[in-house]
Amino acid sequence: MAAAAGVDAGVVVASTRSGTRRRRKPPTQGTGSFRPSLTAAEVIDRLIAEAPLPEWRPHQDAVSELALTLLSQNTSDTNSGRAYQNLIARFPSWDAVVDAPVGEIEEAIRVGGLAKTKSPRLQAMLGEVRDRLGPEWDASKLRSMPMGEAKAWLTSLPGVGPKTAACVLLFSLGRPALPVDTHVERVSKRLGLVHTKVTPARAHDVLEAQMDTELYYDYHVSVIRHGRRVCKAPLPVCDQCVVSDGCPSAFFAEQGTRDGATGRRAVRKRGGGRS
Ligand code: SF4
Repeated sequence: MAAAAGVDAGVVVASTRSGTRRRRKPPTQGTGSFRPSLTAAEVIDRLIAEAPLPEWRPHQDAVSELALTLLSQNTSDTNSGRAYQNLIARFPSWDAVVDAPVGEIEEAIRVGGLAKTKSPRLQAMLGEVRDRLGPEWDASKLRSMPMGEAKAWLTSLPGVGPKTAACVLLFSLGRPALPVDTHVERVSKRLGLVHTKVTPARAHDVLEAQMDTELYYDYHVSVIRHGRRVCKAPLPVCDQCVVSDGCPSAFFAEQGTRDGATGRRAVRKRGGGRS
């Protein structure tokens, strides 16, 4: 990266060692998206070389994973984990949750936040699962169902979107699905692997098509970790990033002028005003 540079009407103006100035185009496709320099597999290699990943282990049964993932929406893992523990400590079975007054569920999961919204959603989702699976709550058929059918089965449950479905498929059933949460979406867009205008739901298909299925877990976990520690919202720490030399958003992130995750110009940290 040039020592001194700026963005002028869409053209990067860089100072050279000799003092003369040269102009080059910014690394965009002109459609709100950056051109990726690294493949998804190369990103994984760099991130894992920096910090190895935990080995994949199945989390829990599919219904429990559904409940936990629904509780994790819009809150931290710590809070959703507490809410989940309170829920299973208070109710002896999923049948008991479905049949309980909704206020009791709300009380049990309050620590996780958004309890008023999540309690009827959780009850409706579990009620639908029981209607489909019967009193045994046996979701084993999801292991052998064709992937498209398994995704459709899960996403047609109340409150279950592509991310929750992918979490259940990957973490509980060990099936090849790539969950795209807010961190994975943001980092992937900054890296140019996903166009800025792609919806979170569509981003699942876009990313899955870019790597072998056995890399889904590695990509999900390594990129989430990178998003939490380095490629943060709203401003990434590009000078501590192991993929910065191949990231088309690094220049704009350093300048505080444009965010590859949104395609929008961001507020400058220094100098004030909208950039
Ligand atoms: S260089 Fe910056 S914007 Fe790009 S992935 Fe790294 S931290 Fe994120």
